[in-house]
Amino acid sequence: MGRVTSPDSAPDPEEVERLLADIRREARYAGSDAGRSTITDSTLAAIAAVPRHRFVPEYLRDEAYSNHPLPIGHGQTISQPYIVALMTDLLEVDTAATVMEVGTGCGYQTAVLAELVRRVFTIELVPPLAAEALARLRVLGYDNVEGRTGDGYAGWPEHAPYDGIIVTAAAAGIPPALIDQLKPNARLVIPVSEGGGYQTLTVVTRTAGEPKVESIMPVAFVPLVHASP
Ligand code: SAH
Repeated sequence: MGRVTSPDSAPDPEEVERLLADIRREARYAGSDAGRSTITDSTLAAIAAVPRHRFVPEYLRDEAYSNHPLPIGHGQTISQPYIVALMTDLLEVDTAATVMEVGTGCGYQTAVLAELVRRVFTIELVPPLAAEALARLRVLGYDNVEGRTGDGYAGWPEHAPYDGIIVTAAAAGIPPALIDQLKPNARLVIPVSEGGGYQTLTVVTRTAGEPKVESIMPVAFVPLVHASP
């Protein structure tokens, strides 16, 4: 039987500890793929600070602190906490950073970033998801987040350049506009579709010459919807 909690209640510290332990364990297992077998303490602290139960539908409250993706409606999902943690670390940004996110969804990754950096700009294609996420983030006190509805394929040039860009939907290729909106040596973390249903989490670093492209590990994200890739 599920625990009886109100949606507003703070997470049970034991649930949070278990989630952090599960993330650490998965980082060790996945480490040979991901090239890093630990998650930084600052990212784990951000995961611990974000009330994930406020980002999932009420009927999934009891699973909110499990290390799994969950459905959030509109055919979309909230990402797996380990993947959120890994992608956050792969950005390699500091507390002064301004980060752009494409694919707000329910706003969970947005909140984790907002715990860690100075400013987050986030773009979501589906209007009701964008509206719900931004309202949720506001209620939770994340006043360093600004969001808009639209196709993030072209980024958000008005606030560029960014110290890091994270895309939380799988793109058919690396959107050139996103590389253009990175500061020198900044990183774009993005799942790239390889065809046949395979996706590779990819890090693209802006350099003075050709961008440096690193494949990290296989992942499973919903597709980045774009009319003409
Ligand atoms: N970041 C979320 C997961 C998002 S799922 C989390 O923390 O759980 C991916 C999201 O990308 C979906 O909400 C989907 O609607 C959105 N999306 C898909 N294509 C997009 C596009 N071209 N621009 C912006 N958002 C897009």
